[in-house]
Amino acid sequence: MLLYEPPPTQADVHFRLFGFPVRVSPWFWIVALLFGVSGNSNPVMTLTWVAVAFVSILIHELGHALLQRNFGGHPRITLHGVGGLAICEDCDRSPRSQILISLAGPFAGFLFALVVVAVVRLSGHGIGFALSPERIDPRVAGGGAVILQPLVWAYAYFAPFTSDPVNHLVADLLQINILWGVLNLFPIYPLDGGRVAREVFTLGNPRRGIVASLWLSVVTAGAVAAYALWQNWFIMTLLFGYLAYISYQTIRAYEQHWRGGY
Ligand SMILES: [Zn+2]
Repeated sequence: MLLYEPPPTQADVHFRLFGFPVRVSPWFWIVALLFGVSGNSNPVMTLTWVAVAFVSILIHELGHALLQRNFGGHPRITLHGVGGLAICEDCDRSPRSQILISLAGPFAGFLFALVVVAVVRLSGHGIGFALSPERIDPRVAGGGAVILQPLVWAYAYFAPFTSDPVNHLVADLLQINILWGVLNLFPIYPLDGGRVAREVFTLGNPRRGIVASLWLSVVTAGAVAAYALWQNWFIMTLLFGYLAYISYQTIRAYEQHWRGGY
């Protein structure tokens, strides 16, 4: 989610996954722990959350990296403070390739969520989605239900497992993979949806297209920040407020650059 790649440090963790070099910045663990602590009440739940965030973000970036390789590139993956990056300097820059590469991250997460749904079903537990908690189907929920909110307006629920850590694991897996993917599809720069919007908008007039896609980014990020503020989601308010601000600053920078002439 960062605009730039964080500088290497001594505390970085390095490994290879499907041939892609992966680097995990220490900030990834620190921020994931902070999010985990703020959302959970005990250490097992917090560590489950960190592990799920690590695997899920890796799968998201792997989605980007696989398509980047498909388009002739040699990408590397970095996990940092608020997410990850699949960086590719030698990839095909055509709009079609770039749009498919951007979409591959969120869709890798949706596929992973589908696998989780399948495993829950195969283990004999009902799982479903409802528009409100009142509409939960008791036949699916099997008496009690673990309810989570993968989207703002829709609820996922499943018949609980006897082990509470397993319930948390399933809930976190669904929540992170669905919510993270949906949020990433919003037309906000530098999220994946913002990258798609930029490619689409610049097909006609590149200059006007870039500014239009950035204004869309300012308005969308501002609306998400306002909604998060209304819901008392402090971190989301800050994050999306910051993204709205960056997009606005980028518009100003472009305008100044163009006034200077090149
Ligand atoms: Zn992405």
